Amino acid sequence: MAILMDGKALSARQMAALKERVDALKSKGKSVGLAVILVGDDPASQVYVRNKGKACEELGILSRTLRLPAETTQEALEEEIDRLNRDEEIDGILVQLPLPRHLNEAQALAKIAPEKDVDGFHIQNAGKLFTGQPGVVACTPKGILYMLKACGVPLEGKEAVVIGRSNIVGKPIAMLLLNENCTVTLCHSRTKDLSAHTRRADILVAAVGKPRFVTGGMVKPGAAVVDVGINRVDGKVVGDVDFASVEPVAGYISPVPGGVGKMTICMLMENTVEAAERKAI
Ligand code: NDP
Repeated sequence: MAILMDGKALSARQMAALKERVDALKSKGKSVGLAVILVGDDPASQVYVRNKGKACEELGILSRTLRLPAETTQEALEEEIDRLNRDEEIDGILVQLPLPRHLNEAQALAKIAPEKDVDGFHIQNAGKLFTGQPGVVACTPKGILYMLKACGVPLEGKEAVVIGRSNIVGKPIAMLLLNENCTVTLCHSRTKDLSAHTRRADILVAAVGKPRFVTGGMVKPGAAVVDVGINRVDGKVVGDVDFASVEPVAGYISPVPGGVGKMTICMLMENTVEAAERKAI
């Protein structure tokens, strides 16, 4: 039976530690603030934004949500970002993705002041990760690495296979695992014989966006399997990993829900607290 990489328990522990850091800042008269910009009314985004607000509340972080109409122009969005860049109360700015199709995501993200870019998506922070320099690391990959380390999964010299090459999950987790001296393979929709790759993996990260895509036969016995997927099937949230067939084969497994998703929000809080601490120096 696999060891459960329990994001709920790990994030609860880390949130308690973060609360102490927020309190320490407050005792010096420094507040911590996070602003989230939500454009349009995508239902999944509404849920994520609500959960982020709840986490801020738990830590005593000022949380501001800017709800902009779906027809917001690029110019208006960038003006709002600029205003938040200058706002002394705000330490972190997050633009909830995806944006409506008429908006240019990369251009909007580039407008965020890199030191307030708590999602780690600004090209400067992505570049720092790529070149091995300290910077803000994207929340989901950061949470995955935290989880693997906290659960004692050996990384150095191990074979890591990542399925999915998005800028927000696949590529940055591949880079983080490479920095941990894993030998990394990045797979995608054009990869030939995917199972041949996944069956070699000591660490397998599934960030595909397809329900129960990874099955037991694709997994090396004893592997650490990280399920990033959030898919809605018949009103239920299911991951990219078929838990029932993979769990008996794997050495470690993260559940959905209660796995990577929890760590992601926790790391967003950590990035926000770190931004406030940097400003307070
Ligand atoms: P994207 O849609 O941006 O990327 C999916 C990736 O999967 C692409 O690189 C794609 O390849 C690859 N892929 C698709 N089909 C196959 C296939 N048959 N075989 C191999 N690779 C395939 O998704 P994201 O990275 O944004 O998200 C992935 C999942 O993680 C989603 O379910 C999302 O909801 C979830 N997510 C969860 C978070 C959390 O906090 N837990 C945070 C962010 C995302 P190609 O590039 O060739 O098209």
